[in-house]
Amino acid sequence: MEIREVRAGYLNLELKEPFTIALGTVTEAKNVVVEIETDSGLVGFGEAAPMPIVTGDFQEATLQGILQFLRPLLLGKDPRQISMISSLMDKVLKGNPAAKVAVEMALFDLLGKIYRMPLYILWGGNANSFESDYTISIDEPDIMAEKVEPLLEKGYTALKVKVGQDGKEDVKRIAAVSRAVNGRALIRIDANQGWGIKEAVAAIQEMEKFDVELVEEPILKGNLDGMAFIRDRVKVPIMADETVFSPKDALEVIKAGAADLINIKLMKAGGLLAARKIDAIASTAGLECMVGCMIESRLSVTAAAHLVASSPNITRADLDAPGFLRSDPIIGGIEIKGGLCTLPEKPGLGIELNRQEVKFVDNT
Ligand SMILES: [Mg+2]
Repeated sequence: MEIREVRAGYLNLELKEPFTIALGTVTEAKNVVVEIETDSGLVGFGEAAPMPIVTGDFQEATLQGILQFLRPLLLGKDPRQISMISSLMDKVLKGNPAAKVAVEMALFDLLGKIYRMPLYILWGGNANSFESDYTISIDEPDIMAEKVEPLLEKGYTALKVKVGQDGKEDVKRIAAVSRAVNGRALIRIDANQGWGIKEAVAAIQEMEKFDVELVEEPILKGNLDGMAFIRDRVKVPIMADETVFSPKDALEVIKAGAADLINIKLMKAGGLLAARKIDAIASTAGLECMVGCMIESRLSVTAAAHLVASSPNITRADLDAPGFLRSDPIIGGIEIKGGLCTLPEKPGLGIELNRQEVKFVDNT
């Protein structure tokens, strides 16, 4: 069995409304779709979500990375030898994680299709459904609070609240959201690196009064001593997100005692193999994981969902991005109803692509 063709195309996703976090505002995601076809005619799908403000990746570099560097490597290879292909991709193309994520995702989709198994079953199988939270982006406290009721009516049991612009204002934001939630859902806080160390301690100690579940990435990423300092002074569990891209980062966070939880994202980790490695390291050290996403369509979100459904150590999911989008380019895949995510019992990812939504680049 061998790979006969690799195609890549532009997938531009418009947001229903601007999404603001401490790192910046996004109005559109410029993603990339990849299709890998075997000599037996099977096709695997992958998505890259380059997010310049988080990973430094961007659409054109991702697309050209796939077509110029990864495609020549892939043609003629056995698509089932994913570890081997993954090592080779790292040799021919430095960085550019989103491009490699998309290719590796398509290979796993093919693997599931070849052996007629949903991916989460292939990876061990834990449960075919789970709850995802929904994110409220940074705004004035009362505007953020107004978003709560409609989300609870839809059935969300956990809300992720973006802060990190100013500690004192952020306490007002959480107070307003907490009043609106009134104990009916979990409240997760994400500062996206926005606070200083002392500002974080003061803000989190105030926010603890509002019964919050966890605080994500309080200070500038990579400051493990700073995170450990904060963690020693607050009761709320601290989750590492931007600080953990790779399995090695996870190991360092654990060694430094810098976090209680890890947020895994495929686009940071550089793929499903690396993401599963992070979960294995975290689980061995006794840290539970969440799986999150960038601004992604239901294609890569379905891949992330298979990861969640495969591991009992992944106890939280933040796979809300498809709900931010004006259109849905995917047929099948994960079904998201008021936060309840259910996976299809189809081989591989279990998705089809609406090809009208993707602008494929001519390879010839
Ligand atoms: Mg985060």
